[in-house]
Amino acid sequence: MRRIAVLGATGSIGRSTLDVIQRHPDRYQVTLLSAHRSVDDMEVLCRAHQPTHAVMGDPDAAAALAERLTDLSAVTVESGAAFLDDLVAEPNVDSVVAGIVGFAGLRPTLSAARAGKTILLANKEALVSAGGLFMETVRQGGATLLPVDSEHNAMHQCLPVASDGRPDMVDVEKIILTASGGPFRGRSRSSLDAVTPAEACAHPNWSMGQKISVDSATLANKGLELAEACWLFDRSPDEIEIVVHPQSIVHSMIRYRDGSVLAQLGQPDMRTPIAYCLAWPERVDAGVEALDIVSAGRLDFEAPDLEAFPCLALAQWAISQPGGMCVFSAANEIAVAAFLSGEIRFTDIHKVIDAALKATDLAEPDSLDAVQALDQKAREAAQESIASGLTRSGS
Ligand code: NDP
Ligand code: MG
Repeated sequence: MRRIAVLGATGSIGRSTLDVIQRHPDRYQVTLLSAHRSVDDMEVLCRAHQPTHAVMGDPDAAAALAERLTDLSAVTVESGAAFLDDLVAEPNVDSVVAGIVGFAGLRPTLSAARAGKTILLANKEALVSAGGLFMETVRQGGATLLPVDSEHNAMHQCLPVASDGRPDMVDVEKIILTASGGPFRGRSRSSLDAVTPAEACAHPNWSMGQKISVDSATLANKGLELAEACWLFDRSPDEIEIVVHPQSIVHSMIRYRDGSVLAQLGQPDMRTPIAYCLAWPERVDAGVEALDIVSAGRLDFEAPDLEAFPCLALAQWAISQPGGMCVFSAANEIAVAAFLSGEIRFTDIHKVIDAALKATDLAEPDSLDAVQALDQKAREAAQESIASGLTRSGS
């Protein structure tokens, strides 16, 4: 029986994880659930899974949840990030599903790494912002790191992997990172000025949380994933090729030195990579419909349009700068939130990131404090650029 902590339980990744877990009560037991403010959803999940602990980031939400669960004496409700850091490291947790969105996911994931847990990593922002620190903590803590993000999960599936989960890259010539192209594939930059948050979140293939849906629409997500692949597979950006594949059936590929290209194919359903990570190195039923390759019919591939989607070009530049992706990711979080609340246009998102990259002193952060300080500076620079309306001028 593996004991699982699901961080970000009320989100898209959290729910998909709990759906797979529910299919295998003989293999998995949920011991910890966390969310931020979604009290109603957490109450339902706590009743269904009966974890030992439920942690809400927001203190008022924690008080409200505790009130609702007075009849469930087995579940202790806690509040705040510090509790979460401690609880993921407890001996009653074997695997930690890192499904919190954004920089807020960094601390508990680092804590799980320090405690040598098996980490099912969905939260890419943590790795992108603090890659060096994160990978070193995984190594020193003896943690097993398994990528949930579908592309990186595909790469992991196409590589020989050691018993500690570490991939063997020795004969690899190139990683081919696929991108769906998002809901606006084929559109020009100028035609995207007036797109709404609802349109940006309507992904053609995947059902995901709002932030990553907007990231997919701007292609910022592919920039974050480029950095994620560099850290996870110890490659430089020029050893990774980004290819748009609108059907989202091939989830990524590995080209070996003999010319062989291995790909992982599957339905665009996160339960497949989640089930792979939960059961690794075995396989379990994920509840996913079988892929019918004949009815899928065709697999198309094309180059990304960097002119229409400048966030990807910005990420490709930022990745070569010390601390650049920490600033990119923080500014992107601010810009996406501002777009979702109607403060800025879709086509302003890259301008906010660009302004933050220019306004922040870039340096490689070598400690958690340094990462947090750089993240904070980037957020302030992004907020300032939004407040000053700078993003409205130019393109
Ligand atoms: P969602 O927005 O659907 O869910 C986010 C979860 O994080 C919720 O449980 C939310 O709780 C919790 N949360 C939000 N803010 C905080 C905070 N400050 N402190 C603690 N918890 C917080 O996101 P997704 O599930 O879509 O994405 C999660 C992560 O996985 C992201 O990093 C994303 O990039 C990555 N990912 C997602 C994929 C997908 O298919 N969705 C695919 C690949 C990667 P509450 O409900 O209470 O707000
Ligand atoms: Mg992905």
